[in-house]
Amino acid sequence: MNVFSDTAFDGHEQVVFASDPDTGLKAIIAVHNTNLGPSLGGCRMWPYASEQEAIHDVLRLSRGMTYKSALANLPLGGGKSVIIGDPRSQKTPELFRAVGRAVERVGGRYIVAEDVGTSPADMEQIASQTKHVGGINDGKDPARTGDPSPFTAYGVFIGLKEAVRFKNGHDDLAGLRVAVQGLGNVGYHLCRMLHSAGARLVVSDLNANSVNRAVEEFGATAVSTDEILFIDADILAPCALGGVVNDRSIDKIRARIIAGAANNQLEADRHGEMLREAGILYAPDYVINAGGVVEVYYCREGRPVNETNKHIEGITATVREIFERADRENLSAGFVADRLAEERFGKR
Ligand code: NAD
Repeated sequence: MNVFSDTAFDGHEQVVFASDPDTGLKAIIAVHNTNLGPSLGGCRMWPYASEQEAIHDVLRLSRGMTYKSALANLPLGGGKSVIIGDPRSQKTPELFRAVGRAVERVGGRYIVAEDVGTSPADMEQIASQTKHVGGINDGKDPARTGDPSPFTAYGVFIGLKEAVRFKNGHDDLAGLRVAVQGLGNVGYHLCRMLHSAGARLVVSDLNANSVNRAVEEFGATAVSTDEILFIDADILAPCALGGVVNDRSIDKIRARIIAGAANNQLEADRHGEMLREAGILYAPDYVINAGGVVEVYYCREGRPVNETNKHIEGITATVREIFERADRENLSAGFVADRLAEERFGKR
């Protein structure tokens, strides 16, 4: 089993292996960097095929959180935790209380939140053992449902508008055609905002009910999942899967702007450079999909939702800085975003 020699290891400050024989817990907590503040990141429960796969995932994801929080101007570092197990069959309240004790032992250098395979109920169990948990909704603010997705969608909307402004000289979305891939928690809310702003929507999802809802509520045009990436649109908003920008897709993408919520849209870093060469403006995913983590932070601090939204609007300035610098220095937006994040958190 490798940690230091894993390809995702990047000078992580601390990696903790946590086990609990009574509940069968096997978890790993990775603290990538705390230069800007305590590390915050979700707890993922996944039936990893091997322990090495779990290590690789937690190293990779925790590093990503450092970059995301730095560019979101949050006083936070990057961390993540993974539980090796099947969330459909291996969840118990006791297991999550054991996670809470493991988080407590890290002494506040890691703040845990929800992620793939974990739920608000799991966070409640964790919170019975540690105060180092983010995003617990105390129910005091009716505008706060405990779901970060609308905030993520708002950040994507803000970032997408800034991309339009950079490309077109103004950020008027009226009449622009936006292809939205994926109508889940984030994609649906993004469609609502785009529709209100006068954009024409073309949508696709594996789930026919989600498609029908977008057609009925927003007058969207439905296309197949094979077509959505390649339709004649002004903007492509990937809100489903990672890796959609790759050697097979780039030549066929007709949109001149890509701005969506999905994590890791570029299959490899070099695809950012290929997009630049093709004249496609790419709003880096982790910069514009940070609205959810901003809300987790504000919820934890007990600050109102209007402050969350105001903070998210700061994505405009960050995206503009990235585009302007990328243009000036003939670099891809993804490359510039990474350098800017490193300057902010002081990568050594
Ligand atoms: P979700 O699971 O609610 O929605 C994803 C949707 O994509 C589903 O409706 C699914 O049917 C659809 N889908 C899957 N494969 C598809 C395909 N090939 N073509 C078309 N549709 C397809 O997820 P979400 O919470 O809406 O998140 C969307 C993306 O944004 C994910 O990549 C997620 O990692 C990322 N993200 C989400 C948040 C958040 O706050 N939820 C925050 C940051 C990033």
